[in-house]
Amino acid sequence: MASHTAPAGRHHTDEAAARLRAAGLSPTPRRRRVLQALGLRRRPVGAHELYVELTRQGDNIGMSTVYRTLSALADAGQLHVFVRDGETRYRLCAPGRHYHLACRRCGDVQEHPAADDGGWLDGITATADFLPDPHETEVHGLCGRCLRGQGDDPAG
Ligand SMILES: [Zn+2]
Ligand SMILES: [Zn+2]
Repeated sequence: MASHTAPAGRHHTDEAAARLRAAGLSPTPRRRRVLQALGLRRRPVGAHELYVELTRQGDNIGMSTVYRTLSALADAGQLHVFVRDGETRYRLCAPGRHYHLACRRCGDVQEHPAADDGGWLDGITATADFLPDPHETEVHGLCGRCLRGQGDDPAG
């Protein structure tokens, strides 16, 4: 994978604080932990799953803190939201317009910059009189690993 698709948050230690402030939240240590845990994951994660993960690691954090932090960040466009199996999941993406290639089997999401600036999409949506949400284009299918039967277990 190219370096520009690396998870956000690697180069700026205070990026977490900037993202939280953009969402109208003060950057408390617990909220930072939520962002940090998200930044390490490629696959979108649900609020409860993230809460369980943080609690297992010994974080003294409430489910409501996790949920409210994720919701506020998503509302502010700091996280991308995916709905899979009826559950809302969140992913911390790199900035800039990009497409999501979402595997329907394992749930993996790859991020690809929209090098063509969405020209094809603009054409379709202009004809259809439809305003697409920015940065939120999802393409569903099977990732290479799942195609070849090497994909992770969806539960894993
Ligand atoms: Zn994204
Ligand atoms: Zn897959």
